[in-house]
Amino acid sequence: MNSPFLPFALPDIDEREINAVTECLRSGWITTGPKAKEFEQCFARYLDSNAEAVSVNSATAGLHLALEALGIGPGDEVILPTLTFTATAEVVRYLGADPVLVDIDPITLNIDPSRIEGAITRRTKAIMPVHYGGLACDMDEIIDIARVNKLYVVEDAAHAFPTRYKGRLVGTLDSDATVFSFYANKTMTTGEGGMVVTKNPEIAERVKIMRIHGISRDVFDRFVSTTPSWFYEVVAPGFKDNLTDIAAAMGIEQLRKIDRFLLRRERMAARYNEALADLPLVLPADADGDSQHAWHLYVVRLTEEAPISRNELIEHLSRQGIGTSVHYIPLHRHPYWRQRYGLEPDQFPEAEAAYQSMLSLPLYTKMTDEDQTRVIDTMRELLC
Ligand SMILES: *Cc1c(COP(=O)(O)O)cnc(C)c1O
Repeated sequence: MNSPFLPFALPDIDEREINAVTECLRSGWITTGPKAKEFEQCFARYLDSNAEAVSVNSATAGLHLALEALGIGPGDEVILPTLTFTATAEVVRYLGADPVLVDIDPITLNIDPSRIEGAITRRTKAIMPVHYGGLACDMDEIIDIARVNKLYVVEDAAHAFPTRYKGRLVGTLDSDATVFSFYANKTMTTGEGGMVVTKNPEIAERVKIMRIHGISRDVFDRFVSTTPSWFYEVVAPGFKDNLTDIAAAMGIEQLRKIDRFLLRRERMAARYNEALADLPLVLPADADGDSQHAWHLYVVRLTEEAPISRNELIEHLSRQGIGTSVHYIPLHRHPYWRQRYGLEPDQFPEAEAAYQSMLSLPLYTKMTDEDQTRVIDTMRELLC
């Protein structure tokens, strides 16, 4: 008898989230309100910094709003890695600016800082590092390059909660803004949702205005005592990117468990590391020193010695009821990005090599030890 299918990812939700959401539904306040505010405060408290947390309905929206707040627009260029999800680049296009793709470091699979300087032009305005899989980029180097060249830094931290870089949590580093994702398969989830974190009050203010139709609450608040409750002022053609209280209620409960989630993910990564060490695989780089990997993804790469190809391995695992994925098909391979910017695979040799050999194994807190044993045993059967 075949075992049931083991999905690549599943959210970890229990009665606490269900009760919190039910309570919100019964309260009569289902869109942005007290729960969204509370979620923002809890999130900022978790980061334990003077940064402000502004909730949004996705990381994509958050990245867009952060770049908008920094004034990125037509004619500007934003440097980002080719090995990322298309959201990182598409938000640059929303604003009429152009993403400039850079190759990755073959060990960390993060953007290669040594290639960033070569990509800077007179039009460059910002760098968007992506903490791939949950391992922090070389932020000292990236912040240095940004300072020297007067560029903004917006961190795509969709994989990086909670990630530490040299002891500091991602979200508290010296970038202009950091954006987290609470999409269904991320390390914590609100179904759809995101958080923009920034120490710059002007960026926070602009994101708060633009996430809700360009309605200025400040203008409203200033006159709140003398104007009727129906009064508001539109100061820009904003967007509809606010997080609902239903989602925020879930987020508050997920955040309470995040340290336990991280511990579980770490244990599972350590177990994969040990059990797969002798196979023809390149195992994922771990964080060193007092850095901390969030283990959103566990990405392995097949070596030349592997008896089967990456595609065959995925196919065999799937037939054995094990879901895997590939993170990512590099942006330079997608028709839109390739054609618009005339990109060729040989411009990105490291991302190409990684892409051809990589797969992501299931790693999530809902998986049992038995589930993981199954993945390990099947990998060993297929690759030994
Ligand atoms: C998931 C993801 C996003 C987008 O997050 P959403 O919350 O789904 O908008 C952006 N960048 C990366 C690298 C991601 O993995």
